[in-house]
Amino acid sequence: MNRPFSLFLSRVVASLLAMALALSAIGLFLIWAAGSVDREDIRRQGEIASYALKEIRSNLSHNQESSTFWDEAVERTATSGNEEWIDNNLGSWMQTFFGVDEAYVLDGQDRPIYAFAEGQIKPPVFFEERRKLLLPYLQTLRSKLATGEAPAEASHEQSVGVSDYIYIAGRPAVVSVKPIVSDSGRLKQPVATIHIHVAVQYLEGEAIRKVGQAHVLQDLKYVPASARQPDAASVALTGDPSGAAVEFEWTPYQPGRRLLASLSPILALVGSTLMVGALLISSAAYRRKLDRIKNNEHIQYLASHDPLTGLPNRSAYEKAADDLVDQFALHQQSDPLAFLFMDLDRFKQVNDILGHQIGDAVLVEFARRAAGILPADAPIFRVGGDEFAVLVPNRTKREVEDLCSRIIDSLAEPMEFDGRRAFVGVSIGVSMAPHHGTDRPELNRKADVALYHAKLAGRRRFSIFGSQMDDAIQNRAAIEADLREALRIKAGLSVVYQPKFASEGDRVLGAEALVRWQHPERGAISPAIFIPIAEEASLIGELGLWVLETACREAIAWPVNHLAVNVSPIQLRVAGFAEAVFATLRKTGFPANRLELEITETDFADSEEVGLRNIRTLSSAGISIAIDDFGTGSSTFERLRDISFDRIKIDRSFVKNIAESEGDAEIVRAMISMAHAKGLKTTAEGIETPEQRNVLRAFGCDELQGFLMGKPMPPDQLSQILRTAAAIAV
Ligand code: C2E
Ligand code: MG
Ligand code: MG
Repeated sequence: MNRPFSLFLSRVVASLLAMALALSAIGLFLIWAAGSVDREDIRRQGEIASYALKEIRSNLSHNQESSTFWDEAVERTATSGNEEWIDNNLGSWMQTFFGVDEAYVLDGQDRPIYAFAEGQIKPPVFFEERRKLLLPYLQTLRSKLATGEAPAEASHEQSVGVSDYIYIAGRPAVVSVKPIVSDSGRLKQPVATIHIHVAVQYLEGEAIRKVGQAHVLQDLKYVPASARQPDAASVALTGDPSGAAVEFEWTPYQPGRRLLASLSPILALVGSTLMVGALLISSAAYRRKLDRIKNNEHIQYLASHDPLTGLPNRSAYEKAADDLVDQFALHQQSDPLAFLFMDLDRFKQVNDILGHQIGDAVLVEFARRAAGILPADAPIFRVGGDEFAVLVPNRTKREVEDLCSRIIDSLAEPMEFDGRRAFVGVSIGVSMAPHHGTDRPELNRKADVALYHAKLAGRRRFSIFGSQMDDAIQNRAAIEADLREALRIKAGLSVVYQPKFASEGDRVLGAEALVRWQHPERGAISPAIFIPIAEEASLIGELGLWVLETACREAIAWPVNHLAVNVSPIQLRVAGFAEAVFATLRKTGFPANRLELEITETDFADSEEVGLRNIRTLSSAGISIAIDDFGTGSSTFERLRDISFDRIKIDRSFVKNIAESEGDAEIVRAMISMAHAKGLKTTAEGIETPEQRNVLRAFGCDELQGFLMGKPMPPDQLSQILRTAAAIAV
C-alpha cells in the first residue's frame, strides 16, 4: 500500500470512524434513555389503566346496590305482578344509567324471575344460558348470606356480594352478584327467601373507550390474545385467583420516543457538524503529517544527494556499495562486481580559467553524459569535487572495460557553454570483487590506486587494479621517506648543469641546473620520478631552495650570461617564495640579473594570484623568467598574457620530429616568430641531431640545448669546458 494512502486511512478514515463510533454511542445512549423513560411511563399508564378498569367492577357493585339494597325492591320482587317495576328499577334502568348489559333477578331458590339482555327484556328462562357460568358466584353469595357475612369494610358496600371477571361466549365481562336486601332492616328475610340480582357489564366497546378517553389511553380495548399487537401496551385484570384474566391493550404514549423524534433534526445537524469538523481537523492533520513526511524525505534526499548534479552523494555511495558487497557475498555471483572511480582531468584549470560557473556546468554535463552511457543497474555517484564513482554489478571484465572506454570517449567532444569551450578528460580506476577484495574499504582503496595509476600514465585512460600498482605505491612511499631523509642530511643529492648554446657557433650562453639523487640502494633516481614525489610530499620547497643555493654557489664564477634553475609551480604558489629567492641571492652573492627561473607552464594556470605576484616581484628584481616545456599542456601565448616573462623553452616533443614532420616544424617556426614579435627570447631543448639543430638555426631560435651539444654534467666538468672555451677564445 502506498504511504499517502495508508496515512490517509490511519489519519482521516480512523478519526471519522472514531467520531462515528462516539456519535453512535451517544445515539444509542439517547435511545436507551428514551426507552427507559418510555418504559417507566408505560408502566404508569398500566397502573392507571388497571385502576380505571377495576373501577368498572367496583362501580358495578355500588351501582347495583342503589336498587338492590332497598326495602321496596325486597317487597316488589317477593310478590308477583311487579314485572314493570322490576324492569324499571333492576333491568332496563340499570342499563340506561349504569351501562349494565345484562341483569337477572333470581328468587330464593335461584329460579329466574326476570331477565334483561341484548338491550331488551328476555323471558326469564334466558338466564339458563348463563346459569352454569354464574353458578359458582351464586353459591358463594348464598353461603355468605347463610353465614351472615358482613360486607368488606374497604368496599364501602352495604351488602355482601360477589364479583369477578368472566368470559361470556368469548366476550370479557364483569359480573356482580348481589342479594336484594332491606336497607332499613325492617324486613325480616330468611336466607332461603332472599332474591339475588345478577348484573353483567361487558368490557368492550363504548364503556372501555370512555375509560381510555378519560385517562388518555389511546385505543384502549380488549383484544383476544391471538390478535395482540406487538408494540401495544397491555394490562391484565383478574378477580378471583381462580377466575379469568382479561387483558386490555392500548397504544402507549411514549414521551421519550417523541422527544427523540422532535430532537432528531437537531441531533442530526449536530452529528453531521461534528463529522464535518472531524473530517476537516483530521484532513488538516493528515496534510500536515504528509508535509512533514515530504519535508523529511526532502531532507533525506538532500542528505544523500548532490544538489548540483542531482546525483547521489558519497554517503549514498557508501551505503549502496556496502549493500552490493553484501548481496554479492550472499549470492556468490559468477560475474564480478566492479567499482569505478573517476576523476576529471584538469578540472581545476577549467575552474580557474573559465570560472566556477562553467566548472559547475562541466560537472553537470559530465554527469549527464556518463549517465547516458551507464546501464540502469550501474548507478553513478558524485563522491567529491570532480570525483565520481560507479558501481557495476554482474559484468565481465571485458564489459567493464568497454564501459570505461565509452565514458572516456564521451568526453572526446569538447563541451560548449555560451560560446566558450571546455576540454576535459576523465581518468578511471577500477577494482573488482571478488578478485581484488570483498569489502568496501579494500575495493575502494584499490580503485583509488588504479585511478592514481591512470592519472600517472597520462590521463584520459582507465586502469584496472593490479598488484604491481600497489607495489608502485609502496615504492613511492619508500622513496618519499628516503628523500626526506636525504634532504635532512643532504646526502646523495647533487646538481648537474646542462649547457645552453648560442644558435650560431659554439658559445655557451648559459647553463641549466638539474638536480640529481644517488639513492644508497636504488642507485640514481630520475628527477622525473622524485620531483613529483617531492611536490606531493611538500618537500619541493626545501629541495628547490637547496638546488638554487647550490647552483648559485657553484656557478657564480662561470663566464655565462645566465644560470637557469627549475622552479616547480608548487613553490611559486607559496607566498614569500620571491623573498626566499632574494635571501639566497644575498647569501651567495649571485647577481639577480644572471639568474633565470624556469617555470613549467603545464600547470601554470594553477599559480593563481600568489604565483602571479611572486613572478612579478622576481621579475621586477631583474630575474628572468622562462616558460619551460612550452607548447605542451594547455598553454598558449594567449593564456600567458597576464604573466611577465622573458623566454620560452620549446618542448623537446616538438624538437623531436622537427626535421621529419613539416607540421611540427611549422608549429615551432610560428612559436619562435610569435615570441620574437612579443620581444621574448627562445630556447629549444632536447636537440639530439645536427638536422634538428640546422632547422632551429634556420628558424632563428636564440638558444639551443640538447645532448648533441652537451649533456647535463657535474659542475667541475662544466667549469673545465668553460675554462677551455675561454682559453680558446683568448
Ligand atoms: P626540464 O626542466 O625540461 O629539463 C630538461 C630535461 O631534459 C632534463 O632531464 C635533461 O636531462 C633532459 N634533456 C636535455 N637534453 C636532452 C636531449 O637532447 N635528449 C633527451 N632525451 N633529454 C634531454 P632531467 O634532468 O631528467 O630532468 C627532468 C625534469 O625534471 C626537468 O625537465 C625538470 O622539469 C625536472 N627537474 C630537474 N631538476 C629540477 C629541479 O632542480 N627543480 C625542479 N623543480 N624540477 C627539476
Ligand atoms: Mg628546465
Ligand atoms: Mg624542459
